[in-house]
Amino acid sequence: MKKILFIVIDGLGDNPVKMFGGKTPLEAAKTPNLDLMAKNGFCGSLEPFMFESQDAPTSEDAHIALFGFDPKRYSLGRGIFEALGAGIPLKSKDVAIRINFATVDSNLTIKDRRAGRIENTQALINDLNRIKIKGVKIFVKKAWGYRAVLRLRSTKDISPEITSNDPREIFKQPLKIKAKNKSRSAIFTAQLLNEFVLKSHEVLKNHFINQERKKSGLPPANFLLLRGAGRFKKLPSFKKVWAMKACCVAGGNLYKGIAKFLGMEVVKVKGANGGINTNLKEKINTAKKCLKKNDFVFLHIKAADCLAEDGNCAGKKSFIEKIDRHLKPLLNLNNSDIIITCDHRTDCNKKMHAKGNVPFLIYENQSNGIESFSEKSCNKPVMPSRLFIKFIVDLQKK
Ligand SMILES: [Zn+2]
Repeated sequence: MKKILFIVIDGLGDNPVKMFGGKTPLEAAKTPNLDLMAKNGFCGSLEPFMFESQDAPTSEDAHIALFGFDPKRYSLGRGIFEALGAGIPLKSKDVAIRINFATVDSNLTIKDRRAGRIENTQALINDLNRIKIKGVKIFVKKAWGYRAVLRLRSTKDISPEITSNDPREIFKQPLKIKAKNKSRSAIFTAQLLNEFVLKSHEVLKNHFINQERKKSGLPPANFLLLRGAGRFKKLPSFKKVWAMKACCVAGGNLYKGIAKFLGMEVVKVKGANGGINTNLKEKINTAKKCLKKNDFVFLHIKAADCLAEDGNCAGKKSFIEKIDRHLKPLLNLNNSDIIITCDHRTDCNKKMHAKGNVPFLIYENQSNGIESFSEKSCNKPVMPSRLFIKFIVDLQKK
């Protein structure tokens, strides 16, 4: 069977944009390589997965579905994937939660939800790891920038069924963490996290790093906002389910975490950072090399989503053009199918993820007569994203 290079351009799909005369950023972008692949490949449209309670797909659920798994079973909470992506080992029943370092004033009113996008949090984290709370092992690890991940491990029953303390707005006070149900474990976990948040504020408020920040006119990282709690459990891996050895080339923590969770090897790439200046050349090179030892290589490119979330439609269009230029070395790969798709639309006018189908292409398989790669041109056949991997595998067998 042929090998598969599975490229996900996060948030690539979009809605019509006025400044592009009603075209989407992908339609407006000059993408000769994507168009050539579309012409010589099989194209169509995917319905990204979302839960009924959601207004738009999330990246994590959409990726789980793209890999052919049921998000109802496999989406364990963002905290779990972020923890794995940050390199925190997890055991069954561990609870993991995302942390933002934030700034509060003396009345505990939030002044900055990202503490001036602080980077050097390691000394703060070292002291947070000295906090003791009865019956629970607490471990904090730095993630990207102002973010960190918290792992709770306990012989007592702990639960991810707790609310966030992040009001998601400045000039408000952090919320109390509450149990989402009446179980003893959820009530206990909410109590212990409220205690941890208070103790951490005591550790952080006079910390030498924050004294220095205040002297330099920077907002101190003196409060923790917690969200995305999840509980770890081991589930059948990608290899077990699809009988393909898989690896992942990504810059963003979340995507590395999802890949690890599914049992894919995460390959390190110098300069891959999930940003606009990520090392695309090296990522594509690495992905090519990985095809030698793997049946399935997942290559994730993040920044189109971030640019759209910042409302930067022109930036998204030019980043798509940049990706396209870097795809050229893939045009004559032997014995491999290249898949290009995305996890969901990100609307650059509304600065948020949006509902709606997204295009896919499978190069180089039989062509179904499509001339370019875009939301409109690749509109048939339509399938739920969860069936996509099976569709690719079946297509290869033909
Ligand atoms: Zn996404």
